[in-house]
Amino acid sequence: MPELPEAETVRSQIAPHVVGATILESWAKTPHLTSPSVSEFIERTRGQKIIAAKRRGKQIYFPLENGDNLLVHLGMTGKLSIEPDSEWKPEELSRHVHGVWRLSNGKRWIFTDPRTFGELGVSRDLPFLTKMGPEPLDEDFPVEELAEKLSHKNVKIKAAILDQSLIAGLGNIYADEACFRARLHPETRASAISKDKLRELLGHMRPILEEAIRGRGATLKDGGYQDANGDYGEFKPQMYGRTGLPCFICQTPVQRGVLGASKSARSFHFCPSCQKI
Ligand SMILES: [Zn+2]
Repeated sequence: MPELPEAETVRSQIAPHVVGATILESWAKTPHLTSPSVSEFIERTRGQKIIAAKRRGKQIYFPLENGDNLLVHLGMTGKLSIEPDSEWKPEELSRHVHGVWRLSNGKRWIFTDPRTFGELGVSRDLPFLTKMGPEPLDEDFPVEELAEKLSHKNVKIKAAILDQSLIAGLGNIYADEACFRARLHPETRASAISKDKLRELLGHMRPILEEAIRGRGATLKDGGYQDANGDYGEFKPQMYGRTGLPCFICQTPVQRGVLGASKSARSFHFCPSCQKI
């Protein structure tokens, strides 16, 4: 599933094609992933100039000239791409296409999503900007403050760092990676970890995410994520998706576990020898 590095890769690849262009035609078709409604989405985006391409956590958004924002969440398999504009017949495109915008620069911008867990929206307010925790990529990522907060949390450390209201942008892949680099078992209670170890864990996040962005994100075996050029991400996680394969440090086979109750369960991957509780 796309996390911060994948969203950032797509944002930076799309930005030069759309920023400064005006949306001449807007099209959407899928009520359950389009908000507030398909017709309102089309109405409020058509004719608008795109003034920026931004990201917060895993959320990508494009401020428009009228003060609205076009929102894109990639979900599991969402993809943004750019094509030369041809005849305007969006309804004839693949059934996996859920949004199309004809731009004033002769390009056509497309949102596809085979599994439809992604989201398209238009909104004046951006509540996620304040609801989300700090960005690990920010210069002023508050390591000290977060270590203090984590030290009072009586939940497993992986669950704690997946909480977007605490830290923005980490999902399964990069949370497992951060725990591994800090030699922390993902099921260790946050409150049982020393402040030094918590600082170390937080300190690993930015380098991991920067490395992943340089690799244009990570594509797992399901092939779900492709960047805006249709290429797979080249970042190779050392833990996530490597169940049974040798740990890069000690060669012990990587194990997989499950965190949480059935519906919201998240898997985790760890080396039983490098990451002991
Ligand atoms: Zn190991």
